[in-house]
Amino acid sequence: MKLFDTHAHLDFSRFDRDRDKVLKRAREAGVVNILTVGADLNSSYRAVELAESIPGLAAAVGLHPHDARDFTPETARKLQKLVEKEAVKALGETGLDFYYDNSPRDQQRQAFRSQLRLAAGLDMPVIVHSREAEQDTLKILEEEGSGLAGVVHCYSSSAEMAERLVELGFHLGFTGLITFRKLGWLREIVGQTPPERILLETDCPYMAPEPKRGQRNEPSYLKYIAEVAADCLNLSVEEIAEITTANGQRLFGLENYCRLED
Ligand SMILES: [Zn+2]
Ligand SMILES: [Zn+2]
Repeated sequence: MKLFDTHAHLDFSRFDRDRDKVLKRAREAGVVNILTVGADLNSSYRAVELAESIPGLAAAVGLHPHDARDFTPETARKLQKLVEKEAVKALGETGLDFYYDNSPRDQQRQAFRSQLRLAAGLDMPVIVHSREAEQDTLKILEEEGSGLAGVVHCYSSSAEMAERLVELGFHLGFTGLITFRKLGWLREIVGQTPPERILLETDCPYMAPEPKRGQRNEPSYLKYIAEVAADCLNLSVEEIAEITTANGQRLFGLENYCRLED
């Protein structure tokens, strides 16, 4: 089985003690690629460093909506510089989080638009974070989105939004949330999404799937998410692994990139 963890935060300090072992377990679980995603500038620098030193790892660089208040033209310039690096395959994560509201909403919208424009200008896919901000996310993606490719990660919004995103050409990234017993409505959305638009992701260290719920999450747990996604779509776990890995490699341009086992 070949899996692609399309959203991990391997630069976070929670992996400092045993990152090597985490990567070894990922390899053993069939994970061939990991996209490690920057949450702010420093985290983006660390993500690039990791991607440059570990075969099979690629990086995304961006500023999370939590930190949108720190977004300046200087941030955009620094991100643009980072994107030139071979290991950087996406812009993000960026987006809107009206659940935590850690940054003022206007600044979130502005930083989101700026990063989408940057991605469009550089022909890079985007990784979008959207929580309790369905209408605003759609509006901005529709206004800025022409020519943009990307994924709305850790998908947990409505079936209507899922449909709209697929129409816009976006992918949906599903995490361990789909393994939670009470979230049957989310499994229904997985079942209704065209398989060629589905990506799988851990969002580790957060969002550990059943049966690891509550623990620190890691890429090797992606197999539990793949099993549930396969169930939702009446496919075998090998089939869903193959399809979603190919989707991610196509979206992020990793077809000829090295693999974790290399
Ligand atoms: Zn996120
Ligand atoms: Zn994330």
